[in-house]
Amino acid sequence: IKRIGILTSGGDSPGMNAAIRAVTKVGLNSGLEVFGIYNGYKGMVEGYIEPLTRESIGEIVTRGGTILGSARLPEFKDIEVREKAIRQLRKRGIEAVVVIGGDGSYRGALELTHMGINCIGLPGTIDNDITCTDYTIGFQTALETIVDAVDKLRDTSNSHHRCSIVEVMGNRCGDLALWAGVACGADIVVTSDTGFDEQDILDRLRDLDMIKKKKHAIVIISEKITDVHQFAKKVTLNTGFSGRATVLGHIQRGGSPCPFDRMLASQMGEKAVDLLMQGIGGQCVAIRQNKIVSYPIEKALVMPSESKKPLTNLFERLS
Ligand code: ADP
Repeated sequence: IKRIGILTSGGDSPGMNAAIRAVTKVGLNSGLEVFGIYNGYKGMVEGYIEPLTRESIGEIVTRGGTILGSARLPEFKDIEVREKAIRQLRKRGIEAVVVIGGDGSYRGALELTHMGINCIGLPGTIDNDITCTDYTIGFQTALETIVDAVDKLRDTSNSHHRCSIVEVMGNRCGDLALWAGVACGADIVVTSDTGFDEQDILDRLRDLDMIKKKKHAIVIISEKITDVHQFAKKVTLNTGFSGRATVLGHIQRGGSPCPFDRMLASQMGEKAVDLLMQGIGGQCVAIRQNKIVSYPIEKALVMPSESKKPLTNLFERLS
């Protein structure tokens, strides 16, 4: 092949730029021409596609977000829309595409592969919700942001006998909450795996206050589980702590990627180009037990998630 495209799709994550850089540099150094497709599948359909050069990707390894922009395009599920996208690619001689995004983006990549454009998926999301890979690009940076924020909340909640209830992202995957729980020494972690037993948590908080005489408490809770502001009110009413909710929100998506994410993005970008040059499509790149590997997207989408038990046990043993 001679020409490949690259796009970022779905929610952005720190390290996407490092992946764009890696794909571009490895591609150019392998004799390929590399095209940036802007705003995800939307730009593919509209033909917002431009060549990437060494200059255009200069100094982006340190930057959060994605220079290519990201967008959602639900209509990409329609075959006519994808046909239009493929015409745009063919017009420019682009034969294969690297798609950086989450599992929705992987589905689009698989459909394109079925239609004759080889695509390789890279896991770009802070949520760590792609089961075939131990880590997604952006997870470790988001974790750092959360740990930094919770450390700060701890200082102030200490002074005021507060219970800080911190809502973190994860899109139904509890990894950000659980990892942050261990790393920050939180008292309670709530994820879709632990379930949310409100009464039980209030009882445990009362216990921390009255029996363990703790000065403050920290609860880390995954998004999409409960209204943390309402829950904070119940904490104030039912325990000796004054409950305060903090929703970290999109802060978790931003920032300069940490070294791990830069490394991961670079290694995965290299792998994506190698696969495309071997004529392989319909696969996604993953890191498993410290090795960069790839799986057919069909298989990856239905892989069961690793058991969270060891880390959940550790969290409990640290309480
Ligand atoms: P993520 O990739 O982070 O999971 P989304 O689920 O929003 O984010 O998917 C990103 C984009 O991928 C969608 O806006 C759509 O353009 C495309 N996409 C998602 N599901 C499909 C599908 N089944 N077929 C084709 N394209 C899809």
